[in-house]
Amino acid sequence: MREQLGLLWELQNIDLGLKSIKEEKDRYPKEMKKLDEKQRVEKERIQKEKEKIESLEKTRRQKEGQLALEQEKIKRVEGKMFEVKTNKEYQALLSEIDSVKEANSRMEEEILQVMDEIDELKKDLSKREKDVGVILEKIEIDRKKLQEKMACDEKIWKEQTERREVLSKQIESKLVKLYNTLKEKRQGVGVVGVKHETCQGCFVNVPPQMFIEVQKNNVLVRCPHCNRILYWEGDRNTK
Ligand SMILES: [Zn+2]
Repeated sequence: MREQLGLLWELQNIDLGLKSIKEEKDRYPKEMKKLDEKQRVEKERIQKEKEKIESLEKTRRQKEGQLALEQEKIKRVEGKMFEVKTNKEYQALLSEIDSVKEANSRMEEEILQVMDEIDELKKDLSKREKDVGVILEKIEIDRKKLQEKMACDEKIWKEQTERREVLSKQIESKLVKLYNTLKEKRQGVGVVGVKHETCQGCFVNVPPQMFIEVQKNNVLVRCPHCNRILYWEGDRNTK
């Protein structure tokens, strides 16, 4: 029985290990998704700034185009000045030129403002691109780490499942059956250690006589309170 209990104890530990790996495995896709999302947000932020700059460049080009047209207009009016006959007509053309020139200088001012804004945004963008570059690099590192952990877990999972397979065959089938039933009813724990004369499954005291029996690991002893199979991990000094 001592050997059987030892194997059962190992089986229980494997099952607990597998359970926590399973929980991790369930968590991985969510963590991966979080990293993807973080990456997407950072990239999107940069994209938005680029779009804003592009739209300002477009405004600038439009204004420059308009300005060029107005300047053409001035040239045309100036050309007409040689053909006028009266002073009145001449004055009218001059005042037309003046008003177009005034409008043009306002337009030039606006173009300069837009250019300033673009310069400012470009400066911000290049700083942000550097920052985001660092963030993206970190995300990539986190992703790699996660992938490594996943691969590692997968390996352990495979090894432990194989070991479990072997163990299950070495343990008497009725003991495995009892263990499985208990495990199902008692949150995944069918075999449990005893410490300080207390069942580590339900934390209720084990009667002294029973405790002595448990320490021998020779017979199957079950906790009178939670029914789990009790196991003594050794070292009589740490009761
Ligand atoms: Zn108990």
